[in-house]
Amino acid sequence: MAKTYHCWRCDIPIPMLTDEEWDVVRPLLRIDIEYIKSYREQSGVGLREAMDTLRFKACEKYFELTGFKETNPNALWHHYLSHYGPECSSCGHLLRTTEAVYCANCGKEKS
Ligand SMILES: [Zn+2]
Ligand SMILES: [Zn+2]
Repeated sequence: MAKTYHCWRCDIPIPMLTDEEWDVVRPLLRIDIEYIKSYREQSGVGLREAMDTLRFKACEKYFELTGFKETNPNALWHHYLSHYGPECSSCGHLLRTTEAVYCANCGKEKS
């Protein structure tokens, strides 16, 4: 089950997918992105309108896995655990990158 962490880019708590869950969502995300592209080419609508109109497989799967209603499939590109590296042993935030040597939130060095 996806655990919720502070997302450094959205600046809100977001359920982060495990590698296993991300493996399920990622292929759907690729399909959705293609879907947006072809829909826009065919209908000539803007990105915003396409996003409001379409339903996305990746978002539905993400909701199924996490209970969090995401409407923008593009946001899902960074909502998985291995993107932000390991959890800080002191404050519990994710370290922000896989190469981080200290926590961007509390400053504790990676143990
Ligand atoms: Zn985010
Ligand atoms: Zn920390």
